[in-house]
Amino acid sequence: MSAKVIDGKAVSERVREGVRQEVDHWVAAGNPAPGLATVLVGDDPASEVYVRNKRKACEAARMRSIHHELAADTGQDEVAALIEKLNADAEVTGILLQLPVPPQIDGDEMTALIDPLKDVDGLTPINAGLLSQGREALVACTPSGVMELLREAGVELKGAEAVVVGRSKLVGKPVVQLLLAEDATVTTAHSRTRDLAEVCRRADVLVAAVGVPRLVNADMVKPGAVVIDVGINRVEEGLVGDVDFHGVKEKAAAITPVPGGVGPMTIAMLLANTMKAARLQAAIR
Ligand code: NAD
Repeated sequence: MSAKVIDGKAVSERVREGVRQEVDHWVAAGNPAPGLATVLVGDDPASEVYVRNKRKACEAARMRSIHHELAADTGQDEVAALIEKLNADAEVTGILLQLPVPPQIDGDEMTALIDPLKDVDGLTPINAGLLSQGREALVACTPSGVMELLREAGVELKGAEAVVVGRSKLVGKPVVQLLLAEDATVTTAHSRTRDLAEVCRRADVLVAAVGVPRLVNADMVKPGAVVIDVGINRVEEGLVGDVDFHGVKEKAAAITPVPGGVGPMTIAMLLANTMKAARLQAAIR
């Protein structure tokens, strides 16, 4: 059996088109176009590419993109002052502080300064806490993208055994919360898990968010499982995920490729979050 390949590019395009239409209706109803402020500190080449792509996607969705670039040696006070200014600016709907930040800046501390209603990355302690309580929140983009792919693939989550490999704030933990909210029975595996293969083999739904090329191989996958690969690893042959795609494809029922799986979903969900933030802010004005 060869798995169905879940096409993240196609799903992300549908989400982006949906957001674009939502923005059109929102503006036609007399509201200002949502504005996404991106803050880039330093000149990390990968971060520059990510931010450029986010800005382009924002403009394609007919939202406003407001960009701030700060030098690599900028002090923490200056970053904090900029975030406070963006918090107070009514034209700014969403604020995205591109991570990682240079070492003199505490990324967690700066993220925590973002107004939770403008936290389109879903990484402030308030939004992470609301998510863990199962309440309305702005949810981190990549985990939201994982859930959107599972929905589009028609995967039944109620009562399913789900295993998430990785427990980061950015991906693993929010994915766990989102799967729990869908009534899956969720196990979190991580770097200290004993017998990772045995834990993974329990999974009807297996999500890998590790950062180790092809860590999850066919022996670790139950026949008929749905496998979502969040990993993006640069190796000699190019980009690969945390899952051995070719081996696992012969055993799973459905699988996401890398590239073209979870990756394109992150920006799509960022746009969806920015639109959602506009509605949340309008509701309290
Ligand atoms: P991270 O380094 O913050 O966390 C990695 C997690 O994996 C940790 O919780 C750690 O305990 C676990 N881990 C490490 N080695 C392990 C091992 N040998 N066995 C089991 N668990 C192990 O990484 P992250 O930010 O969560 O990102 C994970 C991967 O997802 C990376 O490849 C990253 O590039 C990718 N990523 C992709 C997107 C996207 O848009 N598709 C977004 C964010 C991250």
